[in-house]
Amino acid sequence: MLKFTDIDAKTPPKRSAKTRAGDFAEIYGDYITAKAKEQSSRCSQCGVPFCQSGCPLENNIPDWLNLAAQGRLQDAYQVSSATNSMPEICGRICPQDRLCEGACVIEKSGHGSVTIGAVERYITDTAWQKGWVKPVRPMHERALSVGIIGAGPAGLAAAESLRQQGWQVTVYERSDRAGGLLMYGIPNFKLDKSIVERRTKHLIEGGVKFVLGTEIGKDISFAALRKKHASVLIAAGVYQARALTVPGCGVDGVIEALPYLTQSNRRGLGDKVANETAQGKHVVVIGGGDTAMDCVRTAVRQKAKSVTCLYRRDQANMPGSERETQNAMEEGVKFEWLAGPVSIHDKNGSANFVRAQRMRLGRQDASGRESVAVIEGSEFDVKADMVIQALGFLPEDMGALASNVKLTRHGTVRAHPVRFSTNLPGVYAAGDIVRGASLVVWAIREGRDAAFAMHEYLCAQELEMAAE
Ligand SMILES: Cc1cc2nc3c(=O)[nH]c(=O)nc-3n(C[C@H](O)[C@H](O)[C@H](O)COP(=O)(O)OP(=O)(O)OC[C@H]3O[C@@H](n4cnc5c(N)ncnc54)[C@H](O)[C@@H]3O)c2cc1C
Ligand code: SF4
Repeated sequence: MLKFTDIDAKTPPKRSAKTRAGDFAEIYGDYITAKAKEQSSRCSQCGVPFCQSGCPLENNIPDWLNLAAQGRLQDAYQVSSATNSMPEICGRICPQDRLCEGACVIEKSGHGSVTIGAVERYITDTAWQKGWVKPVRPMHERALSVGIIGAGPAGLAAAESLRQQGWQVTVYERSDRAGGLLMYGIPNFKLDKSIVERRTKHLIEGGVKFVLGTEIGKDISFAALRKKHASVLIAAGVYQARALTVPGCGVDGVIEALPYLTQSNRRGLGDKVANETAQGKHVVVIGGGDTAMDCVRTAVRQKAKSVTCLYRRDQANMPGSERETQNAMEEGVKFEWLAGPVSIHDKNGSANFVRAQRMRLGRQDASGRESVAVIEGSEFDVKADMVIQALGFLPEDMGALASNVKLTRHGTVRAHPVRFSTNLPGVYAAGDIVRGASLVVWAIREGRDAAFAMHEYLCAQELEMAAE
């Protein structure tokens, strides 16, 4: 260990921008064993591991790095999987620069962070290859059942934890596939869909039941679900897109990000979908988060003529991962930072160009972020046959799903900050529907925490039933 002064930080090999822009395959290759060992050995094993507090799951990172450096991969996998339901997925898509790696002490000392995410991915990919990832086998079966609404990372993490305790778990999912945004939001070049499907299969092998294509609140009422199950988890995510309101945003060719990404992911999965892609078009994406980065990079791969990202703040203030912005720049995306749309102009009813204006950052507002002010007379036009709105997501109207569950003023479900219980007995909530649009790693954390509290609730129910 402590080799950070002798060995430079190295991520697994990244395919060249030219090659990777031609397909949807993941852009990083695998570590060879020697490299993974070498990179793990850079860890300084500090007494207070800031990486662990930087990780929402509080993963025991120094321990599994130490084990990986010694070549004890199976032990490393046991430690890593004890706190994370999907380490190979987090290793691929966590914005590590803002989480574990951003907090790494050797990063702060200027030596370049330990490549924590890449090692985490390597450990669990190896565990899958070697057959160390075993389906859940509860010590004993319990009679009470749980209904989970939503098969995204929060729902899947909770399902695994509850099943481990022996409860009967059914996940209800309105889509035709499990995975939530892991399946239909995040593109293949960040997360291959076979990795998500492998997790669902693993849960099915462990006894979790999936009821797909079934929307709670429409196909089955929330009241009926509560009657059927001793406890219910709402893990429905947030899906209402924030809309652009500038003049012209109703013309043909102005589309929302998520349907665009879903269609592309479905195409990759071999589904029959409408043939509208960015091919041969000038594409403008409005927004600066993960969704915007996924859209620009999808458009590049669909062979758009040009791809421009408009973001009203500067690069340092982009909400998405710095690494993904860098990847997009390498792949030829043009960034117009400090620029916001004024209007969209059409030619024969279809989008033709976006008129934008320059912005400058002003004083910090109450939230601590700099305010944004328009620079008068700074308009400029960007050619655009396709304009993708990637401005973030809000919760859908919860009235249809569960009208009696209490909400926050943002429309998310009001849940206890640690136990994730709601105002309704036996009903819990986790993931984006509680936190607002966030990250996979937070959804996993909350799904696991909610499952822990649900387990206690179910045990109490079991005792009451036994006493009757
Ligand atoms: C394009 C995009 C890219 C992203 N990239 C990243 C990234 O790189 N890294 C990262 O950490 N995070 C990323 N995120 C955020 C991350 O995907 C989410 O924070 C995470 O998926 C939230 O998990 P969840 O389980 O709460 O919700 P979701 O993943 O949204 O899953 C909710 C599930 O509930 C289902 N559902 C909803 N209502 C009902 C109902 N009434 N009945 C039955 N089922 C229902 C939905 O169909 C869905 O499958 C990205 C998000 C987007 C949109
Ligand atoms: S789960 Fe995410 S934040 Fe935590 S160690 Fe893994 S990559 Fe880092």
